Amino acid sequence: MKRDRRVKIVATLGPASSEPETLERLFLAGVDVFRINMSHASHENARQSVFAVRQLAKQHRYPIGILFDLQGPKLRLGEFHGGRVFVNEGSSFVFDQDETPGTAERVMLPHPQIFEAIKPDEVLLLDDGKLKMRATDVAKGKITAEVMVGGALASRKGVSLPDTILPIGPLTEKDQADLECALDLGADWIALSFVQRAEDVLEVKSIVDGLAAIMVKIEKPSAIEDLDAIIRAGDGFMVARGDLGVEMPVERVPGLQKHITRKARTAGKPVIVATQMLESMISSPVPTRAEVSDVATAVFDGADAVMLSAESAVGQHPVTTIKMMNRIAVEAESDPDYRAFVHATHIMPQATGADAIAGAAHAIAQTVKLAAIVCYTATGSTALRVARERPGLPVISLTPVEATARRLSLVWGIQTFLTADPKNLADMVQKAAEIVYEEEWVKAGEGMVITAGIPIGSPGTTNMLRIAYLDENGIPDGHASNEALTKSEA
Ligand code: PEP
Repeated sequence: MKRDRRVKIVATLGPASSEPETLERLFLAGVDVFRINMSHASHENARQSVFAVRQLAKQHRYPIGILFDLQGPKLRLGEFHGGRVFVNEGSSFVFDQDETPGTAERVMLPHPQIFEAIKPDEVLLLDDGKLKMRATDVAKGKITAEVMVGGALASRKGVSLPDTILPIGPLTEKDQADLECALDLGADWIALSFVQRAEDVLEVKSIVDGLAAIMVKIEKPSAIEDLDAIIRAGDGFMVARGDLGVEMPVERVPGLQKHITRKARTAGKPVIVATQMLESMISSPVPTRAEVSDVATAVFDGADAVMLSAESAVGQHPVTTIKMMNRIAVEAESDPDYRAFVHATHIMPQATGADAIAGAAHAIAQTVKLAAIVCYTATGSTALRVARERPGLPVISLTPVEATARRLSLVWGIQTFLTADPKNLADMVQKAAEIVYEEEWVKAGEGMVITAGIPIGSPGTTNMLRIAYLDENGIPDGHASNEALTKSEA
C-alpha cells in the first residue's frame, strides 16, 4: 500500500460510509484518517467504527488514524409553540428561562451562562447565522434584543454569540462521556469544538494525559484572538469553516484559513482545512469548479489535510467523492508551480537540534539527489519537524509505537512504518534499508538520509544524520559501525 500524495484526506463516517465494505473502498480511494462526529454518532456507532477501522488497518498493514470530534458547548434555543415561528425584522424579541413554548416574541434559552455573560450591544446569531439580533437590555434571566435580520425560526436551532466570552469550560457533560468513550476505544486524535481560549485546551490536555493528541477546532472569534497561545497549547488544528463562517463574517474565512494554516505550519503542527470542500457531491457525482479550486487552494497552501463531512457521512457518492478529492490533490501536487506555492511563506527553523537536523536532512537530500528522508521517531516529534520543511521527496518515519504511527497519518507527506528500535548504527541503517527497499520508496542504487535521536527511544533528542546508499540488491553500503545506540547498551 503506497500513497503518492503529500496532503492527507480525512473523511467523516456516517450512515453512507460505516459498512466495512464501504470503509475499505473509501480507504483504498485515499482516506488516511476517519473522523467520528460525536454530534451524531452514538457510543455503539463509535465502537463499531473503531473496530472496523482497526481491522482494515491490520488487513492492509497500514496506519489509519481515527479522529473523535466532540460536539462541544453547542448552544440551542428551546421549543416554539407549533415548532416554528416567524420573527420580523425591526421587532423586539426576548430570550428567557421560562419553559413555556416560545412565540414570535419570546423563547427559552436553556443556557444560564449566556444570561451571566452577554452585554448590551452584543450580537446573537440564530440558525447558522440566518437570523441576527442585537441585545438591547440584559436583566436577570431576561435578554431583550432587536431583530436585525428576521426570518423563520424553528425549535432547538443553534445560537452563536460571536462577541461574548462564555463562562463555560471546554467540555459539556456529553463531551465528558464521549471523551471517556473515545479514550476507551483508543482514539488517536480528539477534536475540541468551540474552543474559546488556550486554557480550555490545556485543561483537556491534562485530562487526556497523552492518551490521544488534541486537535483544536478554530471556529470562535475569541480563539482567533488567542491564536498564538492556542497554537502553543494544541497538537493540531482544524479550520472549522462551517461555524467559523457563522461566528465571523463569511468573507473573512478565506483570509483566516490562510492565516491559521501558516501559523500551524510555522509551529510544525498539523492543520486540517474542513467543511464544504466538495459539498455539491453530497448529491452530485461531479463537483463544482469552485469546489475543485477550493481543495487545490488548501493543497497549494501546504495544509496537512483536507476534510470531508456530510459528503462522506451522508452523501450519495462517498467513494466517488474521495476519488475526486484524491485526484484534485495529486494534480495540484504535480503542478509545476506547486513547490513555489507551498514555499511562498518561508518558514524559519527554530534554534533547536531537531530543526537543524531536519533542515540539514532536507538540504542534503536535495544536494546529492537522494530518494527519501527516513526518520526514526518515538513520539512523532522528529517526523513533525521534518514534515514542517515540506520537503520535495518522500518522508518515511519509522517507529515502534503504533499510536505514533496512527497520529502521524494526519501529517503532510509522512508515511509511517512500524519497526523495533534498532540496536546499533548498523542495525539502524539495515532496518531503514529493508523497509524503504521492500516498500519501493528507494530503489537499488539510490540513497537516503536517515535522522535519529541517540540514545534511540529517548524523545526529543534528534541529533544524528546518516547518508546511506543501496547497492544493486537493496543492501545498504557497509560503513555502519556497531556503536551502541541505546542507553542500556552504552
Ligand atoms: C465546522 O464547523 O466547520 C466543523 C467542522 O464542525 P462541525 O462539523 O462539528 O460543525
